[in-house]
Amino acid sequence: MNCENCNTPISGVGTVCHHCQFPYNGTIEEKDLFYGKQISQKQELQEANKNLKKAANSLFVVAGIMLFNGIVIYLSADSPIDLIFFGIVSICLLTFGFLLNKAPSIFIIAGLSLITLVYILLAIANGPEVLFKGIIFKIIIYTLLIKALVETNNAKNIRNLNKSLM
Ligand SMILES: [Zn+2]
Repeated sequence: MNCENCNTPISGVGTVCHHCQFPYNGTIEEKDLFYGKQISQKQELQEANKNLKKAANSLFVVAGIMLFNGIVIYLSADSPIDLIFFGIVSICLLTFGFLLNKAPSIFIIAGLSLITLVYILLAIANGPEVLFKGIIFKIIIYTLLIKALVETNNAKNIRNLNKSLM
């Protein structure tokens, strides 16, 4: 006999499928409840994936701001080193965004750490008053990344919950 839900062969013992927890010996109500739960889990997973996509987009936006920053400094101060510096930061953030799905929280924290490191380096190189320049951009960047961290955490919890139920 195979499981009605996932088609895995069912071993003689137990009342639920060892693979998907389908209650094959249960009542129709219990089976319906299982199907209902499965659908809501699917919706939660979709929601989690949407949140991960949003978090990745946040990293891309921050990457764009960093590149823009580098270009503005390059054009106004004719400083190619700034363009290279912000260009590299931007490429790192893009990479984190593309890899986000593999380890969501880690790559958002990597992005946050990188941005913080950039600001520390800028403050060391140019004095701490540089931190107040374009403070709006900095607030936007941190808001985006912290929101992304919360979103990826929620997504991770939903995924783990579903993994343990499936
Ligand atoms: Zn099954």
